Amino acid sequence: MARMKLYVLDLGRLRMQSKVLIGHGPSPFPEILEAPVSAYCIDHPDGRVLFDAGCHPDAMGPNGRWPPEFQSDFTHLGGEECALPHRLEQLGLGANDFRYVVLSHMHADHAGCVEFFRKSQLIVHADELAAVIAAHAANDDTNYAWRDTDAWVRADLAWRPVSSSEGDLALHDEVQILNFGRGHSFGMLGLSVRLPASGDIVLVSDAAYCAENLHQPPLMPGFFEDESGFRNTLDRIRQRRDLDADVWFGHDPRQFAMLRKSTDGGYE
Ligand SMILES: [Zn+2]
Repeated sequence: MARMKLYVLDLGRLRMQSKVLIGHGPSPFPEILEAPVSAYCIDHPDGRVLFDAGCHPDAMGPNGRWPPEFQSDFTHLGGEECALPHRLEQLGLGANDFRYVVLSHMHADHAGCVEFFRKSQLIVHADELAAVIAAHAANDDTNYAWRDTDAWVRADLAWRPVSSSEGDLALHDEVQILNFGRGHSFGMLGLSVRLPASGDIVLVSDAAYCAENLHQPPLMPGFFEDESGFRNTLDRIRQRRDLDADVWFGHDPRQFAMLRKSTDGGYE
């Protein structure tokens, strides 16, 4: 069997207020910080998996998909080099090479490129997809970039909504979807990956933006949809960590700087 590999895709940075990541309490960050945007490619002999889909290449600018206020509060930096299609191209891959795309949630920095994946099963929490469809119908861009949602609704995409009652789901023996449910957003999914040499890695996305969110007691972020759901998810992540999993956060600049990026190779 070909060996499994996990690649870390550097999809640029968001310049934003650090109080988004840590709402109150002692923060190690300056007032304004550049938080990494990332996605993860898991090469598996039974089907390649992508976890998260970054920002749309046309997110920014006067005709950009993101509303002007969102562009100024969360300014995407990195340009074309950091667009998901380019990062995949560097690995010799295109959107059609993925059997599964798992979306942690559908905010503009995690699901922006999902419409490119016409041949993949697009796995997302059912409550998140429902919130997106409702926001689109209501012309509401509070939580999601409306022009992203419009592209998703118009495209003929193969959604696979996961409801809370389904619990965690195995995609492969070594790749498991963690059904976190309500918390940071309306429906969150994480991904647990067991690698032969590197061990267990848990991709938690914005269920914990940075290490401090996972402290006991946690330094809570400045934003969450559901506080008790968020705290319950932190408990679940701590349990994984206590079983020796490596927890990779959604937007922690210090941790991300330490990870090997796809341009330098993968994790085995
Ligand atoms: Zn995010």
